[in-house]
Amino acid sequence: MTSQTLWRSFGLLQRASTRSFINTGSGRRALSSQSRIPDFAFAFDIDGVLLRSSKPIPGAAKSLALLQEQNIPFLLLTNGGGKHETERVAEISEKLQVPLAPEAIVQSHSPFAELVRGPDELSALENKCVLVVGGEGERCRKVAQQYGFKNVVTPGDIFMANPTIWPFKSFQNYYKDITKPLPNPKDPNDPSRGLKIDAIFVFNDPRDWALDAQIITDVLLSSEGVIGTISEKNGRTDLPNRGFQQDGQPHLYFSNPDLWWAAAYHLPRLGQGGFREALEGIWAAVTGGPSKGVELKKTVIGKPHQGTYEFAEIQLLRNRSRLLGSNIPPLKNVYMIGDNPESDICGANSYRSPHGSKWHSILVRTGVYNGGEPTWTPTTIADDVQKAVEWGLETSKWRG
Ligand SMILES: [Mg+2]
Repeated sequence: MTSQTLWRSFGLLQRASTRSFINTGSGRRALSSQSRIPDFAFAFDIDGVLLRSSKPIPGAAKSLALLQEQNIPFLLLTNGGGKHETERVAEISEKLQVPLAPEAIVQSHSPFAELVRGPDELSALENKCVLVVGGEGERCRKVAQQYGFKNVVTPGDIFMANPTIWPFKSFQNYYKDITKPLPNPKDPNDPSRGLKIDAIFVFNDPRDWALDAQIITDVLLSSEGVIGTISEKNGRTDLPNRGFQQDGQPHLYFSNPDLWWAAAYHLPRLGQGGFREALEGIWAAVTGGPSKGVELKKTVIGKPHQGTYEFAEIQLLRNRSRLLGSNIPPLKNVYMIGDNPESDICGANSYRSPHGSKWHSILVRTGVYNGGEPTWTPTTIADDVQKAVEWGLETSKWRG
């Protein structure tokens, strides 16, 4: 299945509510029939736009409150993650002092939830064993379980079940409190009866790159995803991709392609995209890489990818119907406000909406972008989120 097909199957637009609401995040009240219906909406990146290292960016709270007050739909669209949507939204609400509902956010890994049931029964991962990589402590395991995956393991679980899998013990103290016994521990006498992984999800930034890279590489080189085995097809020149990933190994998913992100340090820090590049490098060294015609087969979601924007637009349309009713004019314009040209701006510029909306990109100066010619040219540049929202309202000739 291609990633396009996969993400397109992410659920159809839910039947719109027949009632009209003003969304206050924590409660809703009936919308006056006299209200104007906006044919536009906003999408906000979070880090570097609304918050910077967890602190509110001036004007952010005021801008969201204004949109709520005037019943203008919006969505937070972030490549961040590592927490469940309800938890993440509660934190942002508290920091900004603006009530937000869980459906107001799409995180980098939110679309993974659609794979629990999958496009069909055959590809559903609900009862399969999924390897969840990255994030703080046990958080991503819990997020995956809240999404509905019933059989979740982490690289730490595999390491603690068999510490010889990675000979360095620096992280043993970290793992001892956050790991669980394997559902099907490796049989030392017969590795083929060992734990079988059916999908690999990099949910969030790996904290232990070394172990995570080792375990993912092991699984990709295995026979049918069984830990401790090695595929006999690896390196066979008569097979596609030189025999690599041709033996029933699980599919590899990355949720966030960002190479850099804005944190408390004065220079951007390597993100999940950095880990992917490192893994690609290892894979090329192990298999011969592109010079031998071998690629790392994987699916990458998150901004700037089309699938993530499609997923976000479906959620935005759903929220819009909930807020304004179902019998309303179509959504024409979406203003995507971001600080990262490579993800926010590239994504909005490249996105082709299957629902007929046009996305405009607004680059702000409060995050990763620090002046000069951006790598992707936005529709406009604004000093901060407040100026960006003002620009969007003015462009749509909104007078409240
Ligand atoms: Mg950002």
